[in-house]
Formats: sequence, C-alpha cells, structure tokens
Amino acid sequence: MQAMFHRPDLPTADLAWLNSSEKGFASLGEAFATPTEPTPLPAAHWVGCNDALRGALGLPTDLWEQQEALELFSGNRLTANQPIYASVYSGHQFGQWAGQLGDGRALNLGAIHTPEGLQEFQLKGAGPTPYSRRGDGRAVLRSSIREFLASEAMHGLGIPTTRALCVTGSPAHVRREEIETAAVVTRVAPSFVRFGHFEHFASNGQIEELRALADHVVTAHFPELQEKQGADRYVALLHEVTQLTAALMAQWQAVGFCHGVMNTDNMSVIGLTLDYGPFQYLDGFDANHICNHSDHQGRYAYARQPQIAYWNLFCLGQALMPLIEEQAPALAALESYKQSFPEAMDQRMRDKLGLTGAHEGDRALAEALLQALQKDHVDYTVFWRRLSVAVRESAQSAQAFEPVRDLFMHREVFDAWCIRYLDRLGPANRQSTGDAMLRTNPKYILRNHLGELAIRQAKTGNFAMVQDLWQVLHAPFDEHPTYEAWAGLAPEWASSIEISCSS
Ligand code: AMP
Ligand code: MG
Repeated sequence: MQAMFHRPDLPTADLAWLNSSEKGFASLGEAFATPTEPTPLPAAHWVGCNDALRGALGLPTDLWEQQEALELFSGNRLTANQPIYASVYSGHQFGQWAGQLGDGRALNLGAIHTPEGLQEFQLKGAGPTPYSRRGDGRAVLRSSIREFLASEAMHGLGIPTTRALCVTGSPAHVRREEIETAAVVTRVAPSFVRFGHFEHFASNGQIEELRALADHVVTAHFPELQEKQGADRYVALLHEVTQLTAALMAQWQAVGFCHGVMNTDNMSVIGLTLDYGPFQYLDGFDANHICNHSDHQGRYAYARQPQIAYWNLFCLGQALMPLIEEQAPALAALESYKQSFPEAMDQRMRDKLGLTGAHEGDRALAEALLQALQKDHVDYTVFWRRLSVAVRESAQSAQAFEPVRDLFMHREVFDAWCIRYLDRLGPANRQSTGDAMLRTNPKYILRNHLGELAIRQAKTGNFAMVQDLWQVLHAPFDEHPTYEAWAGLAPEWASSIEISCSS
C-alpha cells in the first residue's frame, strides 16, 4: 500500500518561499498526516493565476514564470523540508454516518509563514491517496475552474472562504460522465480542519488524538481560549465554532449562495466556505432551490442551509463530548446558534436594505420582500443592485424605483412592500444610504452560465475568460463597464445547466 504513494523518482522543488520550518497541522503527527506523494501529470500548463493572493501571501512576483512552481502546483515536484501528506477524517453525508473518508484527492504541501499569517497549502486533484477509496484522486478542468472563480468571488464578497492560488491543467484524461481533462487547484487557508476530523477520532475512540486535535485548533486559531483548562476549553471551542458558523450562514443566505453538499466533512472548523462542488449563486430567487442535481430530497436546498449547519454543529458537539463530558454546557454552546444566526441574518438584511438601527418590524419587512421575490422568481442580485441605485437616485427623482418595479410581474405586491420600506427608511440621506447599499449588494456574482462560458472557452485552450471573470469577481461591488453584460439576467439556457456531484 505504502509503495503506491511513494514515488522516489519525483524531483524536489527548489523554491525559497516553500522552505518553511513551520509545521502547522502536520505537527500533530502521523495519526493525522499520512505522507503521500503526488502522481505527476504530463504537459502541465497554467489555467488561472490569482495574482492578488500571490501578492498578499508575499510570494515572488515572477511566480507564474517559474517552471518549478508550475510543476509543484501540478503535483510534479516534492517539497524539500516537509513531507506532502493526506489527512484522515470521517463524517455524516446527507444525514447518514458515512464512516471514514479523508483527503481522497487533496494533498497538503504544509504550512508556510506569510504576511497573512501561517497558511496551509493544498493541492486538489494531484492523484490518489490512502483515502481515495474508489476515486481516482483527480479533479477535472471544469470543476477546478469553478472552484477557482467561486472562492475568489466569495473572498471579493467579504465572505470567509478557502482561497485558490492557481489552477494548472494537463491533457491527461479523467473519466467522469464523459472523458474530461485533469486539473489541479492549489488551495490556501489558515486551516483545512473539518468537523469530520473531530468525528473521526471520536468515533474510533481515539480520545488522546481528539484532545490533541482540539488543542491544536485552539492554539492555532482560537489562542484566546488557551487559558481555559479542561472541559471549559472545549466547550468554549464549540461555542466559537458555533458563532463562526452562524455568521457564515447569514452571509451565504444574504448573498444567495447555495453550497450544495453541506456534509459534516465539508464544514470548516474555522468558519470558512470549504469544498466547492455543485454550489450555485441564485439567479431568480427561490428559497427551495436545490443546486445539487444528486440531492433528490432537497436536504441542502437554499433555505435549509442554516438549519443544516445547526444539525452539523450537533455532530461536532457529539464528537467533542468525550472531552466535555457534561451535556448541559455543550448544549448551551450549541444553542447559542438559535440566537446568533437570526441576529446575524437580521443585521445582514438591514445592511442590504440600507436600514440603520434595529426596529421591531425589520424582520417582517425583510420576510415580506423575500416572499415577493419568491412569487415572481425575481433575480436576486439584480433586485438588490437596482434597489441600491433606486435609493440613491430617489434623492433627485420621483421615478427612481421604476427599474426595480419592472422586475416584478405582481407590481402591486412590490408597490405595497415599497411603501412600507420607504416609510422605514424615513428621512435618511438617500444618497449616502444608496452608496452604502452599493457596497453591500454586489453587482457581479458567479452565475452558473458565466462559469459555463469560461469553462467552454477553457476547454479549447483559451483561458482569457477565466482570467477576466476572476478580475471582475475579485471586485464584485465595483463597476466594470467592459463587462456590463456579466451583471445582467441569466439567459434562458442557464436553467438547463445541471450541476452534479461529479468533479
Ligand atoms: P466531496 O463530496 O467532494 O466532499 O467528497 C467526499 C469524499 O470523497 C471526500 O473524502 C473526498 O476526498 C472524496 N473524493 C471525492 N472525489 C474524489 C476523487 N475523484 N478521488 C478520490 N477521492 C474523492
Ligand atoms: Mg469534501
């Protein structure tokens, strides 16, 4: 078994920035990090490069010209100081205990000290690992481009996420529903620890490993909890993760993001958006939207996400019980979600609506709006953007809300809502309120059809749209006059794009 994951013929990358003595997650030892070498890909080439992230991480300006970097990010080089490894985790998938999973196609290059703090680097799609089960350890060009664009879009929107530094491609074939070509995404995050990591060691009765993992997460990511001892520390950890998850859910809901596979192995313990598969940003508003074609029951439908996150937190709580022991404090930590999520959601909606202060009727006002949007499946992003512009223009024009009204079939429903809304807005300075709303409600999101067009072009060897779309999504609140069309409504054919779990 071991031989399959050890390839002594691979050369080592001689990149100064990579020679980190930091250990990060790998400091936990071999029960957590299984040395695994990547499987090379032929004729690797760049597909997408995140130069903003390169700069933020303090990586060399000529990184994208370095052949060794291209080879490293394609799994064709080893690292000098630290072994490349895969980690084991378990999890609940679609509500069922799935047992052992793990990094089936993710390989960790280790932690590197950057101006953004210690960051873990991970290759997704660089070949099989001891946790690949029946998978090939590969990722296809299509899904890799989607992850590259979606994670930058998330970052641009100010929503916590793993980042993608680059995508490399290869002509090597990968079999999915049809034959596609291989790609590797280099992901970067302060931590890739999942709820499922905790579930793994708890379910195996490996309590010392469970404690070591919890202590590592506290030391590395919640240092203010270090002074707490014993069970208190793990209760506090559960509370913090609960808070971060509540905040993340409010951000997803506010921007209309559907994750698609909220299994516990895809939940980040530091509250990041993690594992981009069949995700989708809503076009027309539909609370019941299911973006994952394989999710027949709609478990992960848009409106269910906050509740599913809460369910997932209970799995994490269960996994921490050997360290917490008493049920009451664990339940109290979890139940803080019932207050934090609605509060965070209310605040997000107030921000989107340009409302200051908290009034009693605000939640009802937001709910009435969502019902109106639902009734006509109004485009969620276009609505908010037009509303922001309308508020700003309403300082001068009595007709300012006409373009918003035009989005509705049932105009009388919008009119009735708008009267309530304007009443609540009151005498606020419309110009500055509208400006603030334009910084809250993005003009650009990664619509399915935009990703699809970039992918189609990339399949012909032209990566221009990948890079242009990246540029726009990096700054989604700004105007990009050249790309005005990308802010428009989805075309008719967009609804026929089917996103499966296959990636
Ligand atoms: P996901 O639904 O993408 O979060 O994946 C669930 C599990 O399957 C994880 O343990 C992945 O590492 C693993 N997996 C998914 N795709 C592959 C693949 N092509 N090869 C090996 N493992 C995979
Ligand atoms: Mg996953």
